[in-house]
Amino acid sequence: MLKIDLHFHSTFSDGFFSPAELVQRLKACKVIVAGLTDHDTIDGVGEFLALCRKASIKGVAGVELSASYMGVLHILGYRFDTANSGLLSALEKNRNAREARNILIFEKLRELGFDVRLEEAAAYANGVVGRPHIARLLWNKGYVSNLKTAFDKYLKRGAAAYVPRLLLQPEECVGLIREAGGLPVLAHPRQTTPDLDDLPPVLRKLKDAGLWGLECRSQGNSPSDVYRLLEIAANFELFPTAGSDFHGGGHANVAVGVIVEEDTLPWGRLCGGL
Ligand code: AMP
Ligand code: ZN
Ligand code: FE
Ligand code: FE
Repeated sequence: MLKIDLHFHSTFSDGFFSPAELVQRLKACKVIVAGLTDHDTIDGVGEFLALCRKASIKGVAGVELSASYMGVLHILGYRFDTANSGLLSALEKNRNAREARNILIFEKLRELGFDVRLEEAAAYANGVVGRPHIARLLWNKGYVSNLKTAFDKYLKRGAAAYVPRLLLQPEECVGLIREAGGLPVLAHPRQTTPDLDDLPPVLRKLKDAGLWGLECRSQGNSPSDVYRLLEIAANFELFPTAGSDFHGGGHANVAVGVIVEEDTLPWGRLCGGL
């Protein structure tokens, strides 16, 4: 058995911990392969990889892209060229779209009577400001009793201060990662299709676009889900990966590190062998 983690967030997006704090936790939890996957930014990757090297952890460059879909569809990318201009400019466009959206969300929140400003939420982040930061601000100011309520009442799709943002198509996200020499993986598939019977048609399209892997071991998956996902991954000739989606702080109570079998996961391809 090994402990790895190919999906977690830092203060460069909506995580609570800096890359240095994350590496400390990964080390303490005996994680041996780790990929930082911030939303729409790779600004933390250089520091993260350097710290991993010092801590004798195999570090992997990563990122998480949200795609346009009727529900949640997130594409993780790994081991891409961090200087690829296509990827960097797409990430910048996504960040600009977030900025425009955040301004509108705050206008709506103020119309609802809340005394909140975007700069206050931005102070929680070291880069990309997302809805989790806005939820935290509403909570810190006593407007909601917890982060889930902030999403349910104000921030989730259809809620009072919801604003959509411009998103790439799922196939475009996969293509961007491939064109940057990276490996695209569908994140937390049960968030995309809560009924796993609905997953194969989604995977067919993504596989045709170049999908490489499926996050089979992720937060909230039961042993039978994992079994099904491993089977589905094998049917589609996708590599199974594992990640906690750890954010820290007030998010769901998860820790870094996912236990995996030594022979079921493609470590060699991700980080040049153990
Ligand atoms: P954003 O990147 O601004 O679209 O926010 C998306 C992030 O918010 C996700 O990655 C989750 O971490 C979090 N999130 C989305 N929906 C919810 C929800 N209903 N409850 C709590 N957190 C959520
Ligand atoms: Zn997040
Ligand atoms: Fe995600
Ligand atoms: Fe995530």
